[in-house]
Amino acid sequence: MIPVHEAEEIIAQSVKNYGIETVHFEQASGRVLAEGICCDRDFPPFNRVSMDGIAIRYEAFEAGLRKFTVKGTQPAGDAPIEITDNSECVEIMTGAALPGSVDTVIRYEDLIIDGSNATLLINTLKKGQSIHYKGQDKKQGSIAVPAGTLIGPAVISVAATVGQTQLLVKKLPRVAILSTGDELVDIHEIPSAYEIRRSNGYTIKQVLKPYGIDATLTHLPDKPEVIESQITNCLANFDILLLSGGVSMGKYDHLPAIFEKLGIKQRFHKVQQRPGKPFWFGGHENGTLVFAFPGNPVSAFLCMHRYFIPWLEASLGIKSHKLYASLTEDITFAPPLQYFMQVRAEVNEQGKLIATPVHGNGSGDLANLIETNSFMELPAERNHFLKGEVFRVWPFKNIL
Ligand code: AMP
Ligand code: MG
Repeated sequence: MIPVHEAEEIIAQSVKNYGIETVHFEQASGRVLAEGICCDRDFPPFNRVSMDGIAIRYEAFEAGLRKFTVKGTQPAGDAPIEITDNSECVEIMTGAALPGSVDTVIRYEDLIIDGSNATLLINTLKKGQSIHYKGQDKKQGSIAVPAGTLIGPAVISVAATVGQTQLLVKKLPRVAILSTGDELVDIHEIPSAYEIRRSNGYTIKQVLKPYGIDATLTHLPDKPEVIESQITNCLANFDILLLSGGVSMGKYDHLPAIFEKLGIKQRFHKVQQRPGKPFWFGGHENGTLVFAFPGNPVSAFLCMHRYFIPWLEASLGIKSHKLYASLTEDITFAPPLQYFMQVRAEVNEQGKLIATPVHGNGSGDLANLIETNSFMELPAERNHFLKGEVFRVWPFKNIL
């Protein structure tokens, strides 16, 4: 058995780059940009009017003029209408390109238009107001979104603006999820009095989905021959195997022996933690990594968030942030294990992240995950944790 930090370090040594590929920008959400998105034009591409109203020459206002003749109306997308005299103005709309002969925009709220006359209701004016200048945000040829950015709606918006429909992104590992256990029936079946429906595979698949990973899902019986042949098959076709169940001390926990037989080298087995102590990690010389989580739903769930997701984010170059929260009550946990306590983390009125323990019934208590949003990691070396002390939290839902 090894401590949590050692397990973490061993897994970190297996962080791997899976290369790059091109995807359509509408399918790119959750992926990591491998090449920056470049501005095809200046942002904005012309002096853009940012208020509906009229455009004048500032020097006319400065000279005392308050009434202007409307030369014409210019909607967004049209060629500029030029004035030829200081007494003229252009009625102009948001998004239109500012004509070169004017330099200041006055919004409708500050004037009255009567036929072809515009009369100002204001006596102060800032030269150049209500204009978003060409290239003010970004210059043509500059990088609007750097490589390494996690793609979300804002990146997709920039890609659409520059007309880049194909994006170069970090390639994802091919992931197979294999759940094990003879007591587990398909979700469409009615379990007998001694059986339960299997959930871990579905849970793990959903945890991967926001990253764009569409993992295959297979269930294996506790039969060594079947497990062996399925894992052999997976070794040839996947980069990552995520297993649940079958790694504890039970008579039907066949996985560690089968891994060894198939040349999957154990890097560790058992971590000094609760839940998730029987966690097994190793790799095959062909590069396939095997994360075998204990079958208890909360254990598998914790191990996914505490170990696999950080590995995945590091492999994809996603910057992850450490989060810490303050305990809202005293806690005692006697076993010499790192305790991943289920908490409800929230920001209080002082703007501080606080964590309230929600005690469930252990690692089989799946329902408690609904009441909580994070695990708080309490160090194995200690047994008493005091209200107000700060520890690391691992959110599995949006907490802000
Ligand atoms: P194991 O790690 O195989 O000893 O399983 C530990 C506990 O988790 C047992 O009570 C199993 O029935 C349960 N379990 C294992 N896999 C799943 C699963 N996919 N869905 C729900 N419960 C599971
Ligand atoms: Mg089992």
